[in-house]
This record gives sequence, C-alpha cells and structure tokens, in this order.
Amino acid sequence: MSNLKNILNGWSNYLIGSDQTTNEEAKRRASICSECPIATDGIHTAILPDFSIKEIQGMYCSSEKGGCGCPLSPAVRSKNHNCPKNKW
Ligand code: SF4
Repeated sequence: MSNLKNILNGWSNYLIGSDQTTNEEAKRRASICSECPIATDGIHTAILPDFSIKEIQGMYCSSEKGGCGCPLSPAVRSKNHNCPKNKW
C-alpha cells in the first residue's frame, strides 16, 4: 500500500470507524505509543478528539525526536502504517 493510501486508510478508520480487528490492533499500538518518549502532545485534541483511545489523544509521533511526524490517532488505525522505530 502506498504512503498516501496508508494515510487515507488511517484517517478513514479514525473519522468513520473501523472493524473490530483494526480497533484491537489500534489499541495495542496506542498502548506502546503512550509509553514511547517520541510521542509528544500536540494541538490535535482541540481539533479532533479521540473518543475511543484516550491514551494517545492529541499526540503525534515527533519528527524532531526521530519519529514520522504523524498524528497518532490515525497512525495507529492505519492497517499498513509501520512505527518508524519498529515498535509495532
Ligand atoms: S509510532 Fe513508534 S516511534 Fe512513534 S510514538 Fe508510536 S511507538 Fe513511538
């Protein structure tokens, strides 16, 4: 899957919803991200709250710390997105 398709898949799953398997995998990924020093608070909470995975709400994977720069709510829900540090 191309990067654009991965991004669109994550945002679609975040905004519209996804199947149970994707939801469970998103929660597993989010628990890892929530403990990661690269995960950083952003402004996304005010604009796009995360109603089902609160532990990463408003956070992003900081490119300044070596991450991908992605907001985590859609990133963890993207089926083929990979953690840039291979944590998931
Ligand atoms: S995607 Fe990977 S590097 Fe980024 S915050 Fe999550 S665990 Fe950390």
